[in-house]
Amino acid sequence: MKKRLIVIGGVAAGMSAAAKARRTDRDLEVVVCEKGAFISYAACGMPYYLAGDIPDHRDLIVRTPQQMAKQGIDVRLHHQVMAIDAETRTVAVRDLEHGNDLSLTYDDLVIATGARPARPSLEGSDLEGIFGLRSLESGLALHRYLAERKPQRAAIVGGGYIGIEMAETFRRLGLQVTMIVRSGKVLRATVDDDIRKLVQSELDRHNVQVLQDVPVSFEGEGKLEAVITAGGRYDCDIAVLGMGAVPNIELALDAGVRLGPAGAIATDASMRTNLPGIFAAGDCAEALHLVTDRPAYIPLGSTANKQGRVAGENAAGGQALFGSIAGTMVLRCFDLTVATTGLTAAAAQDVGLPVSETTIQAKNISHYFPGAEDIHVKLVVHPDTGKLLGGQIAGKHGVAKRIDVLATALFNRMTIAQLRQLDLSYAPPFAPVWDPILVAANVAAK
Ligand code: FAD
Repeated sequence: MKKRLIVIGGVAAGMSAAAKARRTDRDLEVVVCEKGAFISYAACGMPYYLAGDIPDHRDLIVRTPQQMAKQGIDVRLHHQVMAIDAETRTVAVRDLEHGNDLSLTYDDLVIATGARPARPSLEGSDLEGIFGLRSLESGLALHRYLAERKPQRAAIVGGGYIGIEMAETFRRLGLQVTMIVRSGKVLRATVDDDIRKLVQSELDRHNVQVLQDVPVSFEGEGKLEAVITAGGRYDCDIAVLGMGAVPNIELALDAGVRLGPAGAIATDASMRTNLPGIFAAGDCAEALHLVTDRPAYIPLGSTANKQGRVAGENAAGGQALFGSIAGTMVLRCFDLTVATTGLTAAAAQDVGLPVSETTIQAKNISHYFPGAEDIHVKLVVHPDTGKLLGGQIAGKHGVAKRIDVLATALFNRMTIAQLRQLDLSYAPPFAPVWDPILVAANVAAK
């Protein structure tokens, strides 16, 4: 009899798992239950779809259920898994379109339920015009609201990367933008103060007002008219919640799946949970941090795809292992690119590591070449061992390629002395003879 794999959730982790499982075992029956209307899309592209760079939301879709069916994967849209019975290896599923309940047995199960935007339980937070951006449906709803209601003033609650990307989107669409950030520090968990200053001044340059404040309620007659904060009242006709992601772990927890210290599903390197035959991957799961060697929750699409692939391969009988994460990410804030990998100095200190910090400013390409611009490189180093703990880079061009150099150095647990020795590329249009990474490493070595 054919074995059956059920995957819960059909985006980055879930579809990677389903596709890899089918490729690993051609005889495996693979069923994906997705409660929403879409699968396999690039949520990361939504701010750019909303800004009009990507004209059609269908361009964000990587694979349709019909394409998956050709690969032998049975995708069931609008099917929400309501409960997992790990004893009988059965899931209870609700067909949300037709209102039917069904029960499906599995040999193996991949939980890829992702995350949801953190929502404050504040008065008025269900008013029309308040959005959390996560699923493609939420992106389409926001797109429709912008087109139909033509809002003029946006409030963004939270200062994480989605908040920043949406601030750019709204400004490009001509809206006034106020960001309400509890700590007053945008990208608080992502960069240190010196790099944050550059982000803040880019936001200032583009007339994004950042307030150190907390929302206490939303006001309006049916639809949003203002956000009331501890410090005042801000008129707005659209708001986006960018307060971080909350892992969807309730289903797993009810089934007896163990959580880790960071509050998401704990797995081993093969993406197995504590329950036999049950794997977890993506934004609902933790990952081992490369630098701290501790479980961490840094939900990113890059990680979700890789973890999903490992879970899928192993659920089909393979032997794949997922390594660790460094939380490497890059984002655009108007004309500035900001990137990070590993630990910030603040995060390193939080886990009790001594740090030495070096930040340099250099040209991104040869200084005499047209278009040369400043780039800022920060290295966080363990002062006793000389080991790189993390890096942050901000500038206009050449940021993404350089953060990947630092991520690779972290992966290989390199010291500053080794980083200085790297044979990095040089030609005037692309890099100076002393690449900013090498300049930073040389300064850090002193
Ligand atoms: P999700 O994408 O959350 O998918 C989980 C799916 O499971 C959902 O479709 C949900 O409906 C379904 N589900 C949940 N519970 C059930 C259930 N009980 N039954 C059936 N189905 C269920 N990451 C980057 O690395 N780089 C970026 O630039 C970047 N930009 C982003 C920009 C935005 C605006 C957003 C929202 C995210 C961005 N991310 C980025 C993060 C990235 O999109 C996520 O890390 C990734 O989508 C996680 O994939 P996932 O499959 O684990 O979870």
